[in-house]
Amino acid sequence: MKIDIQKLVRKNILNLKPYSSARDEFEGENGIFLDANENPFGELNRYPDPYQRKIKQKLSELNQISIKNIFLGNGSDEVIDLAFRIFCNPEKDKILTFSPTYGMYEVSANINNVELINLDLTDDFQINLENLKPYLNDENLKIIFICSPNNPTGNSFKDIKYILDNFSGIVFIDEAYIDFSPEESFRNQIKNYPNLIVSQTFSKAWGMASVRVGIAYASEEIIKFYNKTKPPYNISQLNQNEVLDALNDENIKLVQDNIKLILNEKKILIQSLKELKLVKRIFATDANFILIEVENADEIYQKLVEENVIVRNRNSVIKNCLRITVGSPEENLKLIETLQNFN
Ligand code: PMP
Repeated sequence: MKIDIQKLVRKNILNLKPYSSARDEFEGENGIFLDANENPFGELNRYPDPYQRKIKQKLSELNQISIKNIFLGNGSDEVIDLAFRIFCNPEKDKILTFSPTYGMYEVSANINNVELINLDLTDDFQINLENLKPYLNDENLKIIFICSPNNPTGNSFKDIKYILDNFSGIVFIDEAYIDFSPEESFRNQIKNYPNLIVSQTFSKAWGMASVRVGIAYASEEIIKFYNKTKPPYNISQLNQNEVLDALNDENIKLVQDNIKLILNEKKILIQSLKELKLVKRIFATDANFILIEVENADEIYQKLVEENVIVRNRNSVIKNCLRITVGSPEENLKLIETLQNFN
């Protein structure tokens, strides 16, 4: 299949002369810096590296992916929003999502005034390929967003490869929860698919949601457009330092141990939920959360809130469903004990 990234990019972005920052024009680390209108006093007085090269170097070594294939955003929410700004002409282009899914694709589409095609997932929360096929040749369909494992359902999708092999627009795979999943990341497929963007984040498995750093892995061509379009210093030095500190062998081992702990807790939690009469259904999950169906989600949600246990009420998107994040052993126990009292 012929993929022409230049043709997918908005004309104004293709022709954009990007902002050239002081740190673009002089990249050295030594000297008397009188070029960026910074204050000479203080500890946080300097602008950070606009391309976060030290972090990318570490990620590159960790995942055997070239620095040229990595973009870092202010959370993966910035990675999502930039995809709209690079590829989608407002009031003309469209994006496609599989519903129910992560809410920001729709919000970003609305902010950017881009039409959203929303295809319902099947009853077991898989992609309905027959529904999708008629859209694959639509020239104005620029991006298909695939969240796998999917939020809020928790499952992974089976037909991602089919979409990659049959769609010549951008395939955006949101892997925010991939580190909890037994499925392999699509990160290594970027060399085979120049139109593939794989987003990941430091917010979930890495336990750094407050730091706001997300990652995009994609072809060099796509990453160039990301760098061209992003705000010059999109990740603060403080946030870069936190991520750099986290990318060492000892901490990586800790992160992996915590993932195992969370997955083990998930198993225990599922077992305990199964024993509760008020739980009607527990959906399959590859993520760090569990979607359950109950008799009356609004009521149970409210009763939990009264006991200071906050879950996510998804009743408005999937009837009578609650999404429960796997917490610490103590937190999970408190949840189960509270629910037992409702029985
Ligand atoms: N994608 C998915 C599927 C998410 O659930 C979330 C956050 N809940 C994000 C992206 C955004 O994550 P970040 O903190 O990296 O902006």
